[in-house]
Amino acid sequence: MKKVSLVYFQHDLRLHDHPGLTASRQRGLPIIGVYLCNQLEMQSTTFGFQKMGNYRQQFLYESLWELKQNLATLNIPLLVLNRDPQSAANLLKTKYDIASIDAAVEPGIEEQNLLKTFQLALGVSSLYLHHDKPLLSPLDYPWLLKTLPGRFTDARMKIESAIKVMPLLPLLTPQPFIEGMEDDFSTLPFFKLQEKPWMKGGETSALEHLQNYFFMTKSVLTYKETRNNMLHFADSSKLSPALSLGLLSPRMIYWQLKRVEETLKKNQSTYWLWFELLWRDYFYYLHLQQGNRFFLITGIMNTKKHWQDNARYQQAILNAKTGFPLVDANLKELYQTGWMSNRGRQNVASFIAKILNLDWRFGAALFEHYLIDYDVSSNYGNWQYLAGVGVDPREDRIFNVTLQAKKYDQKGEYIKTWLPALAKLPVPLLFQPWTLNGLEMGIYQFEIGKDYPNPIVRDARVELKD
Ligand SMILES: Cc1cc2nc3c(=O)[nH]c(=O)nc-3n(C[C@H](O)[C@H](O)[C@H](O)COP(=O)(O)OP(=O)(O)OC[C@H]3O[C@@H](n4cnc5c(N)ncnc54)[C@H](O)[C@@H]3O)c2cc1C
Repeated sequence: MKKVSLVYFQHDLRLHDHPGLTASRQRGLPIIGVYLCNQLEMQSTTFGFQKMGNYRQQFLYESLWELKQNLATLNIPLLVLNRDPQSAANLLKTKYDIASIDAAVEPGIEEQNLLKTFQLALGVSSLYLHHDKPLLSPLDYPWLLKTLPGRFTDARMKIESAIKVMPLLPLLTPQPFIEGMEDDFSTLPFFKLQEKPWMKGGETSALEHLQNYFFMTKSVLTYKETRNNMLHFADSSKLSPALSLGLLSPRMIYWQLKRVEETLKKNQSTYWLWFELLWRDYFYYLHLQQGNRFFLITGIMNTKKHWQDNARYQQAILNAKTGFPLVDANLKELYQTGWMSNRGRQNVASFIAKILNLDWRFGAALFEHYLIDYDVSSNYGNWQYLAGVGVDPREDRIFNVTLQAKKYDQKGEYIKTWLPALAKLPVPLLFQPWTLNGLEMGIYQFEIGKDYPNPIVRDARVELKD
């Protein structure tokens, strides 16, 4: 039986800058890669959504396919196993004598349990865990693991006083040939949903996208000015899908950003992108620190609030028919593409949690299902923040979704793209069609309640003042 070391892939589906692969290679044994499908992802949550919806499935499938090909060029077989950990371990043990496991630290409890069960079933005691997901290493900032400040700004300022980012790890050279075995890849229930998905999976596309955004279109140089817009692909970096599956290492993004600053320009936009990446790290470390409290209705602050279980409101969200154009347009985009901008996410989350007072976890589960870039820490961390049960010190902050539309979609182009029924209305009527009087309805040949739904709630906090 062949003695090997096993690299356990989850959200690190790439070859470049891969701590697990590098550490495993240093141990000298031939490497096999394993991707164990998390079967919980295919189950429904209490809110009725399958955790991993179709957009994410396709993105994952494409990324795994490419990883398999890329690892094969290094003679590393990738075995994709879609079965429970015990039978996956039994299968592997028929062919390999596994000496050690290298894996990335996962802050999610389900991911941790999956790995623990798998390790136990394999009977391997040597498990090496690597902080692959974040940009900053706790080796450079030990306090990230122990005494993370309760406010993001405090953490950021501490980091900015002495920035340290690990250099990129070298690419592996091929190992001597090692025989693989039949896996479950070809029987995965994932299928080709769209000929032209919103974003293609795989490390190659992710690296190309990075090059494009940074060096070809140079859109990164105007990031700060455009990041709050919702309409155009280049408005923000769109790096989150690649980061969610680890198709790009955050350190690669950082060092390429440094290269932009050295060779093109250093400006407020390049700073702001770095700043945003720190949010991702913050939620990663916060999640590690807080564990399952990330999923409690009372949040990490143990905040008691009156949450509603209102089927009519939930249905309006699911049908993108709340009667609030900015909310409905963003929900439509999410349902039709798997994407929603940060501006959209903030507004929709605030509306669900603070105006409708629906259990914020309903919204989080909805996003988990649809978002192509779903990341457990960023999603649940941001939802808690917006719902007022997380780290946001501005507890009473509510987004006025109508005012936000007026501010960030000034000409109404975004809303018209996703809600063509409103296209005939001029701004600012477009932002609150329920205010049209009889005369205006006649002029614009538009009837509220027929062409577009009446608002499900009337609340001055989400309407324009006269
Ligand atoms: C309710 C809600 C749910 C969210 N769920 C997710 C999620 O599941 N996965 C996810 O990656 N992001 C999530 N975000 C954060 C943010 O909306 C996305 O990271 C961002 O919209 C991705 O687009 P981009 O890559 O173009 O971002 P850019 O604006 O270009 O930012 C660059 C990168 O910085 C990081 N980043 C930016 N803002 C945040 C933030 N608020 N929190 C954490 N990281 C951030 C992301 O990695 C992003 O790719 C959520 C935000 C909200 C308000």
